[in-house]
Amino acid sequence: MDLILLGAPGAGKGTQGALLAERLNIPKIATGDILRDAVRRETALGLEAKRYMDAGALVPDDVILGLVRDALAEPEAERGAIFDGFPRTVAQAEALTGILAERQRSLDAIALLEVPDETIVERLAGRRTCGQCGRVYNVAANGESGVSRCDHCTGELIQRIDDAADTVRRRLQEYRTKTAPVVAFYDARKVPVRRVDGDRPVEEVQHDLLELVHR
Ligand code: AMP
Repeated sequence: MDLILLGAPGAGKGTQGALLAERLNIPKIATGDILRDAVRRETALGLEAKRYMDAGALVPDDVILGLVRDALAEPEAERGAIFDGFPRTVAQAEALTGILAERQRSLDAIALLEVPDETIVERLAGRRTCGQCGRVYNVAANGESGVSRCDHCTGELIQRIDDAADTVRRRLQEYRTKTAPVVAFYDARKVPVRRVDGDRPVEEVQHDLLELVHR
């Protein structure tokens, strides 16, 4: 099962992808998480990517495609993967078709999480991320005082640099100009893109996504 979760920053791809990965027992390949890990470890790739990420710009396609190829070569991804935050450009989408075909695979489902802009801005402003395991929290849901440590690994919760208001605006602009065309790309290829209302409680969205993959 190979599944893509599409949607603007803050649409819930990370949260929903993690739940799906657990339920379907396949890995979530989140290019943003892989990049943040490289930034933390200060690898050459991390140092290059950080410049783009901190500015809210997309990291070049060739860098991203290398990461996805590596992730798909892992034994745990043999049975499929959930792509979160990838593909983000039409060129990445085209390349993914080829990468999967090399493995005699093709996409089984594509979900687009739809959330109004106001909700996105609100969610990103309140988002806190575990510096250790990447789990995502929100001060609106948990209350500022209740979210200083990750309840999964006790890591410190931090605000992502790119969740600052100015950078969020740039990321939304990148989404509209470069990632929204990915939806049109798949629609034109008759791979059904299922629209899912992401402006609902986590469990309801998850329920719809599971229904979609079991169809
Ligand atoms: P995310 O965690 O998915 O919001 O990604 C955080 C940042 O990483 C993005 O704003 C981009 O700078 C970079 N990034 C993540 N995935 C991609 C991708 N597929 N293509 C280009 N840049 C990416």
